[in-house]
Amino acid sequence: MLKSIIFPFFVLTGMLLSCMKGQKVDLVIHNAKIHVMDDANSVQEAMAIRDGKIIEVGPERQILNKYRYDEEIDALGKDIYPGLTDAHGHMLMYANQKLGVDLTGAKSMDEVLYRCEKYAAKSSNKFIIGRGWDQSLWANDSMPNNSKLSQVFKDIPVCLYRVDGHAALVNDYVLNKAQITANDVSGGEVRFENGQATGLLVDNAMDLVTKVLPSYSLNQVKETILEIQEELYQYGITGVHEAGIDFKHIAMFRSLVKSGKLKMDVYAMLMNSPQNRAFVEKNGRYQFRNLSIRSFKVFADGALGSRGALLKKPYSDDPHSHGLLLTSVGDMKKVADFCLKHGYQMNTHGIGDSANALILAIYKDAFKRNPDHRFRVEHAQVIDPIDFAKFAEYAVFPSVQPTHATSDQRWAEKRLGKNRLLGAYAYKSLLKQYGMLAVGTDFPVESTNPFLTIHAAVQRKNGQNEPMNGFLPNEALSFDEVMKGMTIWAAFASFQENKLGSLEKGKKATFVIFEKPMESQAAFVQNYAWRTFINGKLVFALDEL
Ligand SMILES: [Zn+2]
Repeated sequence: MLKSIIFPFFVLTGMLLSCMKGQKVDLVIHNAKIHVMDDANSVQEAMAIRDGKIIEVGPERQILNKYRYDEEIDALGKDIYPGLTDAHGHMLMYANQKLGVDLTGAKSMDEVLYRCEKYAAKSSNKFIIGRGWDQSLWANDSMPNNSKLSQVFKDIPVCLYRVDGHAALVNDYVLNKAQITANDVSGGEVRFENGQATGLLVDNAMDLVTKVLPSYSLNQVKETILEIQEELYQYGITGVHEAGIDFKHIAMFRSLVKSGKLKMDVYAMLMNSPQNRAFVEKNGRYQFRNLSIRSFKVFADGALGSRGALLKKPYSDDPHSHGLLLTSVGDMKKVADFCLKHGYQMNTHGIGDSANALILAIYKDAFKRNPDHRFRVEHAQVIDPIDFAKFAEYAVFPSVQPTHATSDQRWAEKRLGKNRLLGAYAYKSLLKQYGMLAVGTDFPVESTNPFLTIHAAVQRKNGQNEPMNGFLPNEALSFDEVMKGMTIWAAFASFQENKLGSLEKGKKATFVIFEKPMESQAAFVQNYAWRTFINGKLVFALDEL
């Protein structure tokens, strides 16, 4: 009886209160730990959202009393962060990997062949493209040749990319079709043994076969990119810096965005091709809804795993090799020039200490012309200690992928030797120079899982908690630093700090509520998004799975 008297009373006062409340909003989220990622590192309890934007973030009562709302979400005390950005990923490459044979984790060349045969038996494609093999997981750690591959697959093209995308093994069918008979590729290598091409192509040599390889239909690729988007949402990732697209893919991304299906913020870097430069001359900086194009991706060198990274001194495990320069210094200067002229950013892949030194010398001139150029070094993986200060002097933005450190730790010392390791995967030292880092995964070279990135950055360990004491633990980042690298600093790295990267008034209501508490721990903990929002709209809910 008492209940029925009290209830209408509360409803009435509630209605009165809501009439007294001021502004109407679409959504209020409360009872949360909102990590705003502003300059003051503030943590708030509630947030009001209207038209996809943040209207106010503040204390629980302040927000609940001030606003009328259509919908409210009790966040159950969970952590909320701005939607994460993967500042270096490859959706296109990942889509191709998903459509072809997945060779990740294969323990031998025989296992690679077995997976190809299994794929061929099921696939309607008259070709095999695979990705993900890594000879450092095999018994002898030597690069493969195609003898078995060519025996098994005689009359269809087969091309199998190494996990880092910097080497490919092709069968004789492809070698013949591409008419490869000599090794005269600048910035690349066609591997020969006893006068015979082995089918192994490193870096620029892979370009020789791309024109003879079939590809998947645009529709297949588009559908797979949307699957990848779902995979990213479950981790709270709402933005990707897509590290290198060709001209035809500009239209593909645009049509995915136009259809409303690709909701993530895509910051696409253009490959340096005549068609892409013509696109920039015509369009300047390009923004179409959540697709932003204002940067170029350039390769200074290759990767360490395939000994394509350009080093000042020879490889410790191959005294005849310094690695490969993929783009001449003259060409890199031309790109820098073009970027400065058109208000574009230059993002150069630099792994070896020599490649990084060459890039820094080019960026020195860019700094003179525009101190806020924000030109990036992608990976910045091995730095000669005398070059660190140049990141600060020329305002060069480092873009790093902490899981590379924990994946490469098995063999990095073999390639580099003890001394050079001191300037390798040196994220803390790089952060000290520029004051910001863009943090990514480089998927599909590594997993899309940002919790592996956090663990690798903070504990310097992989998902199996190896190595026990962490790999080069002096270079660990703090938990807050790695979270900034995936939010506000990633926004700075893409000139989007006015609309993304923090949960401040006026910015996009793009955020993630995490299922478990977000704190760094000594052992790896897998977490997921509980809810992911883009522009105030729910795009992922864990319990709907
Ligand atoms: Zn990459």
